[in-house]
Amino acid sequence: MLPQTEVSQLKEEIMRLKKERNAVIMAHYYQSPDVHEVADFVGDSLELARKAATTNADVIVLCGVHFMAESAAILCPDKTVLLAEAQAGCPMADMVTGEMVRERKKQKPDMVVVSYVNTTAEVKAESDICCTSANAVKIVQSIPEGKEILFLPDRNLGSYVMKKTGRDMMVWDGFCCVHNRIKPEEITKAKQAHPSAIVLIHPECRPEVVSMADCVASTAGIIAFARQSEAKEFIVVTEVGILYQLRKACPDKEFYLPSETLLCANMKKITAEKVKNVLETMEPKIVIQTDIYEKALQSLKKMLAVG
Ligand code: SF4
Repeated sequence: MLPQTEVSQLKEEIMRLKKERNAVIMAHYYQSPDVHEVADFVGDSLELARKAATTNADVIVLCGVHFMAESAAILCPDKTVLLAEAQAGCPMADMVTGEMVRERKKQKPDMVVVSYVNTTAEVKAESDICCTSANAVKIVQSIPEGKEILFLPDRNLGSYVMKKTGRDMMVWDGFCCVHNRIKPEEITKAKQAHPSAIVLIHPECRPEVVSMADCVASTAGIIAFARQSEAKEFIVVTEVGILYQLRKACPDKEFYLPSETLLCANMKKITAEKVKNVLETMEPKIVIQTDIYEKALQSLKKMLAVG
């Protein structure tokens, strides 16, 4: 950890560069506290996409993983989008490629392809509509009954959506290596240690874990639930980065994580120092291939129109 004087200097330097570049710093909830501290906006994938679509800044510094910066670049073609760390990828997004989707579409050309935003721009371009964990149920409900649906890439979110909507879907066999790690025994143990706590679980967890939740929600949904709840204790089953915003939003409440393994190494590749570096160098810029741009934009726009 940097000494306080260096932290203050770093923040001042970031402020100066931000003004000079007319930049906005957007961070995902799973970022480290030092990044939350320098961000102009902190949100989940859906909130970041909405914010990117409406910002007046010339430059967006995305503190998250690669697909999030791609979504910002698709929604803001006239802006420069910088990813705060070029190597911050999402293993789940890499579990499906555009070529794989094209192959499946050849077999079933009439199916509707719903892709979680945790996918590459190329996969979004092969999809009919995108979704996030916050709006996946609503997106699937918006598809006419009787249509075959291919949901990708998260099998756990897909299973949750099938249960909530009663729709049968073909679900890709991808998963988030962070949320999928959590086992029911760990939730049981946390409940025994904190019997009065409400259990809040992200739908990227396995179905047997999700079934133990008092509330299943996206990261933004978990924060909203904790804010309005009269309960004082919560077991939170998602990435550790969320604790910073939860404790800030609800200083009088207690939050417990059932496991120390709830940490996304890719999200944690970004630091405030790296945010300063990308503002200085204006690299790495995220550029979307022109041949996939328009189709990927349509999939994201359709999602934003549904909600
Ligand atoms: S938490 Fe999971 S889905 Fe999110 S970026 Fe990390 S690996 Fe990908």
